[in-house]
Amino acid sequence: MQKQVTIIGSGIVGAVTAYYLSSDPTLNVTIYDEGIGQATKNSAGIISPWLSKRRNQRWYNLAKSGAALYPEIVADTQMGYSVYQQAGTIVTRENPDDLQALYDLAVARKQQAPQIGQIEKLTAEQVQDRIPLLTNPQPGVFVSGGARVDGDKFAHNLLKYCEKRNLVRHKGKVALGDQGQLLTPHGQQNYDTLILAVGAWLKPLLLPMKIVADVRPQKGQLIELQLPESWGDDVPVLMPEGERDFIPFTRSKLVVGATHENDMGYDLQVSDLVEADLFASGRKLDANLTKDQITQVKVGTRAYTRDFAPFFGPLPDNPHILVASGLGSSGLTTGPMIGKLLAEYVQTGRHDWDDYALSVDHYLSPAE
Ligand SMILES: Cc1cc2nc3c(=O)[nH]c(=O)nc-3n(C[C@H](O)[C@H](O)[C@H](O)COP(=O)(O)OP(=O)(O)OC[C@H]3O[C@@H](n4cnc5c(N)ncnc54)[C@H](O)[C@@H]3O)c2cc1C
Repeated sequence: MQKQVTIIGSGIVGAVTAYYLSSDPTLNVTIYDEGIGQATKNSAGIISPWLSKRRNQRWYNLAKSGAALYPEIVADTQMGYSVYQQAGTIVTRENPDDLQALYDLAVARKQQAPQIGQIEKLTAEQVQDRIPLLTNPQPGVFVSGGARVDGDKFAHNLLKYCEKRNLVRHKGKVALGDQGQLLTPHGQQNYDTLILAVGAWLKPLLLPMKIVADVRPQKGQLIELQLPESWGDDVPVLMPEGERDFIPFTRSKLVVGATHENDMGYDLQVSDLVEADLFASGRKLDANLTKDQITQVKVGTRAYTRDFAPFFGPLPDNPHILVASGLGSSGLTTGPMIGKLLAEYVQTGRHDWDDYALSVDHYLSPAE
């Protein structure tokens, strides 16, 4: 008899979990997604965790493992350069001491994470050679392992891949009953395992079960531009000091972003002021950008916990319901590893995740 695994949410966590379950013929996998405000669809797409100054070792373990999974998944599912490309990342620093410190950090981190690849200290001119769009380059550190991913296309392609195997997809909002009953637009559905990969929406979803999740929403906006010039597939992502990130995709698409707007709840309105601010930041790097090149402003909702760390795993009182949330601003990077670990748990019933996250009970409490 096949087991029913139902996943709520088809962002990076839901899609990657489905991918790792897709080769298991003993499972029926179903995904529900409301399709609103998804962070994955609206993300900037930088995969480059190694130069972060974050000191949370568990987060770093997840992030570097997640970054390392992309080349495998992309090769297996045959996604092209417009979806994912390891073109490298450049992080700029004006001050020579800061630049050296960043370079030293990269070299030290490479010992434990060879995926960081080749590390180079670049002058401003060398940075401009790598990213010809720039009119105001700064010196920086280049790491060849850095990548950019189009989160929307990546998740979409993964789900299409899974649909050819054991996945059925439904659009629509689901709710939970007080005992974890799954209430869908098609009525109540049974499951053997339920995976709540709902990002910023975990708190409202769990409330009927009288569980309060430590998750708050954060609004993020970015702009996408279509430029007249084209460039190679291998132009690196720029993480400039003091400005928004600058991500040249293939087919002349440039992304500039993103904002981190707290206290906006689940608001998805595009803000003209924010759009102007993002454009101004892009123009400081490439003075030739014009407003009419903006093709869209994307808005997504990130999920944050009070310690800024993701959490995932079975509910303490119900091992058939798994949760994953709190991926914050680096969820495209940590998400693949979280999806892989959740899939392993579904298949083996075992988990030993101390190296990756605190247990979920740190982030869940009973409702009053
Ligand atoms: C503007 C922006 C830029 C970013 N840039 C980067 C970056 O450069 N690098 C990086 O690593 N990370 C980045 N991130 C962070 C990253 O996108 C997120 O952390 C990650 O995508 C979260 O994935 P998730 O699967 O947990 O949630 P999501 O992608 O948000 O998916 C959750 C899904 O669940 C659905 N859902 C929720 N409740 C229900 C319900 N009751 N019924 C049905 N469906 C439901 C939602 O509609 C949504 O589609 C960025 C995020 C934003 C917003």
